[in-house]
Amino acid sequence: MAVPQRRTSKTRRDTRRNHFRLTVPGMVKCPQCGEMKKSHHVCASCGSYKGVEVVKQD
Ligand SMILES: [Zn+2]
Repeated sequence: MAVPQRRTSKTRRDTRRNHFRLTVPGMVKCPQCGEMKKSHHVCASCGSYKGVEVVKQD
């Protein structure tokens, strides 16, 4: 049975896991409601952009 010759270092292990992300890049947390939204886009859940500027209200 094949056995690793040496233990994987913490740095190498964490570097490999660098791409294991839950969200796609370009997604930011909305400062208004805390939902994940696309950066530079109006928030889909609360309709705000740049803090207080409410564009759409449901
Ligand atoms: Zn929001």
